[in-house]
Amino acid sequence: MSKFFFNKLFRYLSIFLLFNLDISPARSSSALAAWSLNSNGVLELRTKSNSKLKAYFQKGGNTYGDRFWIDFPGELKNPRTIKGNGPIKEIRLGKPIKGKTRLVVEFSADSNLKPLNWRLEGIDQNRWRIKLFSLPRNSLKKIGEGLVTKSTNLNVNKKAIKTRSRNYGFMQLPDIERNKFSVVIDPGHGGPDPGAIGIGGLREAEVVLDVSKRVKNLLSEKGVYVRMTRNNEVDLDLSPRVLIANRIDADIFVSIHANASKGKRRDINGLETFYYSGWRGRLLAKKIQKQILKVSPGSPDRGVRQGRFFVIKNTKMPAVLVEIGFLTGKLDARRLEKSIHRKRIAYAITKGILEYLSKAG
Ligand SMILES: [Zn+2]
Repeated sequence: MSKFFFNKLFRYLSIFLLFNLDISPARSSSALAAWSLNSNGVLELRTKSNSKLKAYFQKGGNTYGDRFWIDFPGELKNPRTIKGNGPIKEIRLGKPIKGKTRLVVEFSADSNLKPLNWRLEGIDQNRWRIKLFSLPRNSLKKIGEGLVTKSTNLNVNKKAIKTRSRNYGFMQLPDIERNKFSVVIDPGHGGPDPGAIGIGGLREAEVVLDVSKRVKNLLSEKGVYVRMTRNNEVDLDLSPRVLIANRIDADIFVSIHANASKGKRRDINGLETFYYSGWRGRLLAKKIQKQILKVSPGSPDRGVRQGRFFVIKNTKMPAVLVEIGFLTGKLDARRLEKSIHRKRIAYAITKGILEYLSKAG
């Protein structure tokens, strides 16, 4: 296609990427906390948690270059212009209207951007990234204000990323006394009940069955007797799941699920583990939650919580229900569709179980 066509096409085109996060009160201070345009063309942002952002693109005209801008809730105190370098003419921070903040990236007139490939990604509740361009290294000197990674959560997660890439040979699993413990693993849903349906049609029932089978194998290797409530795609009511566990008088019961958010919000990701009551259940939940977070860097910690789910309420032994991520969340879904990540999650759950058994068992 001719260059002319593209120019014409883009002239009046606004790219509008909207993330359905909660709207912050209009009159509060700017939700933009820090930003950084890196030499690799990636713009990183840190905002207040759960900010709603809107991003736009406008093709350059005769007298100005391409423009990309993002509007944030909350009012900017001091509008300013930061001089650019390389392909960037300048970056402006302003308040287009009362109660708003706008960050404009203005490119030099000869820029040649591909906005149709742009994706504004939410990394976690307060971090965002978008790749604006690719250029040879060092054609842009990094521009920015503030620390885009300033968050305790993130520091923990960054550490996890490093650890994983360095010594991901496999997670070391602790040894426990063999042939002493029995564990019931309960893959949620099954058969005609797919559970949550995620991005790209990812089915909870399948994902959790795969993870559960891996957990079973890992535990079996450590000399733990494992009983699965289901081994294939069958529909199984909740009470038989409980009966299996109570009948064999298992030491613990672990139900494995994946989440879906209301309205299938892609910005909602995270892991959580529920227990019903008692310190043992709580301890087991804590051990598992800690491990699954380690293999899910960037995905929010939704915590260890009390829940009244049938299967953990009616089982007689310490019981937990693990939610290994949101199939409707962009970050979690992309991982959970891959077997390498399911393997990691399975290791993490197994490690949590083994640590619990060696302490409380
Ligand atoms: Zn479920």
